[in-house]
Amino acid sequence: MKWDGHSHTELCRHGKQESTKKMIEQALALGFTHYSLTEHAPLPEGVAPKGRQAEFALLEEEMEAYFTLAEQLKQDFQGRIEVLVGLEVDFLHAHQAYTTELLHQYGPRLDDAILSMHYMPGAIPYAMIDYSPEITRQDLLAHYGTVEAYHQAYWNAFQQMLTADLGPFKPKRIGHAGIIYKFCQKLDFGAFLEPSLSFFEQIGYLLKQGGYSLDDNFAGASYPLCRRPYLPKALRQLAEELSIPLVYGSDAHGIDAVKKSNEAYEAFCQHGRIRPRRPECGPPTSPG
Ligand SMILES: [Zn+2]
Ligand SMILES: [Zn+2]
Repeated sequence: MKWDGHSHTELCRHGKQESTKKMIEQALALGFTHYSLTEHAPLPEGVAPKGRQAEFALLEEEMEAYFTLAEQLKQDFQGRIEVLVGLEVDFLHAHQAYTTELLHQYGPRLDDAILSMHYMPGAIPYAMIDYSPEITRQDLLAHYGTVEAYHQAYWNAFQQMLTADLGPFKPKRIGHAGIIYKFCQKLDFGAFLEPSLSFFEQIGYLLKQGGYSLDDNFAGASYPLCRRPYLPKALRQLAEELSIPLVYGSDAHGIDAVKKSNEAYEAFCQHGRIRPRRPECGPPTSPG
């Protein structure tokens, strides 16, 4: 099997709003057998910048339209590529009841789901980790004072995401671990760019214990301010040692990215820096 486990749709307003059907056709042409639609799940008030909620995630009132689109595509492509109806759900440190309720409501209808962290506490309660280098400097680096403190806070919050009780539909795959490195060509992480194996010891243990897999997200690899996979080397190695499945994710927000991320991933695999995905990391038949 060849699985793209992370993609967005024409309903995403910060994406290219290109035809989702064409994105899936692109994946099909590249030989993918499985393709997860993981649109950004709705956010509660007070997370996205005021008045800009629709830019970041689906609105609650758009969920039915999303399911209609996703379920239709699943049907249209049946027998050619398995389209999984999923969501990318945000971990929100101070809104866990909201997320639990959202998962309770939509979980039964999902084939797949990802739990991601795009926000963490900083100068504001939900500072954006991956929006722009300027926002990161202003709301996170300046707040924590040093790269070291910011970096540590990110992985602490990440650990909190792993242990959070979000109910029976809590996603089993963790989105883009290491998205903190998205602007690494512009923000100097120094030695923190590749932490040691021992730095991730507790995280590896929690991933294994929780039965999680990792989104091996390659959106950063073709992004000029990043030019690397988000997953740090040591965490990749630890996942390999602990048999924590890695699931490739293009995180495509348009047709071209389906191809670009795949190219970057294949080049990365060919250079022998990672082994190809293990066959046992198939999509779950049910979430959670
Ligand atoms: Zn997005
Ligand atoms: Zn994401």
